[in-house]
Amino acid sequence: MRIAIAGMHHESNTFSPIVAGKAEFLYYRGAEVFGKLENYPTVRGIVDVLAPKGHEILPASFIRAVPNGVVSRAFYEEFKADCLGRIAAFGPLDGVVLSLHGSMSVEEIGDAEGDFLESLRAARPGIPFTSTLDMHATMTERMLRNVDGFAGYKTAPHVDMYETGVAAAKMMILALESGKKLSMASRRVPILIAGEQTETSTEPTASLIALLRGAEASGEVLSASYLLGFPWADSETNGVTALAVTLGEPEKSEACVRRLAAAFWERRADFHFHTEAYPVEEALSKAFASEKRPVFVSDSGDNPTAGGAGDSTHFFRILMASAERKTFAGKVGYAGFYDPESVARCAGRVGGELELELGGKFDRANGAPVKVRARVLAYATAWGPYSSDLAAVRVENVDIVLAAKHIGFGDEIGYYAALGLDPADYPVLCLKLGYLTEIYWPYEPRSILSLSHGASDEILEALPFKKISRPVFPLDRDFEYVVR
Ligand SMILES: [Zn+2]
Repeated sequence: MRIAIAGMHHESNTFSPIVAGKAEFLYYRGAEVFGKLENYPTVRGIVDVLAPKGHEILPASFIRAVPNGVVSRAFYEEFKADCLGRIAAFGPLDGVVLSLHGSMSVEEIGDAEGDFLESLRAARPGIPFTSTLDMHATMTERMLRNVDGFAGYKTAPHVDMYETGVAAAKMMILALESGKKLSMASRRVPILIAGEQTETSTEPTASLIALLRGAEASGEVLSASYLLGFPWADSETNGVTALAVTLGEPEKSEACVRRLAAAFWERRADFHFHTEAYPVEEALSKAFASEKRPVFVSDSGDNPTAGGAGDSTHFFRILMASAERKTFAGKVGYAGFYDPESVARCAGRVGGELELELGGKFDRANGAPVKVRARVLAYATAWGPYSSDLAAVRVENVDIVLAAKHIGFGDEIGYYAALGLDPADYPVLCLKLGYLTEIYWPYEPRSILSLSHGASDEILEALPFKKISRPVFPLDRDFEYVVR
């Protein structure tokens, strides 16, 4: 069989002022992706299922970026034309397996996955499409209409991307080998939840995910997913989606998905933070007074891996003004700011001192730039998959990481080493991050979530939602939802 593969991964925070374009994305064209599979676990899973069965895998185009603001229309149109052009050039095809995030929003267009899939379906009618989705996918009608079977991640932090790629490819093989159509059912459950309340090792998420695994293990369905939506996006259909796929058994898909939707709604009031969570001042007081070390404090309202601008200064101002910080005997780490201007000013100045205005250039709603006198500790060029220049500067007892690109501070720990720093040197380490990702677990820190302000504010009620379909919990609390 001849099977095309393609990928599009981005989460658009519509409350962020940044428009993400070419510079923010990794872009793999055609067979290039085969050299990048270590960075692309879903596609590796897809390839690992299709290749041993002797299927011909035809790679089109793949883009991915750290979550950010909405995506530039020009960049999206360029990707779409390139990807669809490549798929058109493949000639006869038996199916398409995609690796999508869900929750990408494009300037003027909105729902990118729906738009892309609709065009792909128009170009390739009559063959099955399957796709992986991130657990934080926001489902839309257009996405549902144009794909035969979705499979979503079942873990947060996401450690089952490879397995989800395997699941999407297996659904494709089953459909092609049996000649039967996949049958997918879904229900939107009107709930918005911050990701920091849905780690899958915690309740009630663990029990809900167990329902999905049970439905699959019993053979009731091929694939069952909860897609939680991406809370920091003001889109009409945002919310949780329960989804189930069978091989040509629509009644079973329907019955399963109704049960899953009802179960999720039932637990809506049970979601809560699983780490200590406080307003910023209180979070820092507890961190500096803590007997347990190290303490990692999340500047969670401006988490670049949730599409925060990465330069809100709300938390940083309070940190610099903190009397406890000023008298603290140890070093404090802060990672960091997305601040191309300040990084450029540090180039060639290692060991020197200079005046900098940190942050506040993109996200102007949550604090102006902070003027500091800083010593440049280190500088690194083209670090990591996004090829970001980095600088480390010291202001009083605070070491600050600055990045020229909108990178996440939770996916890769190598940026410390690139700058000659060691996270273990900081009894208090502040991070623009939400829950601690697995790279920080070996430090066994006390983890405190500070409820700072920015485009990824954990208090969803504080964000200016306008387009989302109401009622939706917890923006609205007093309403009934009945699964039909
Ligand atoms: Zn996610």
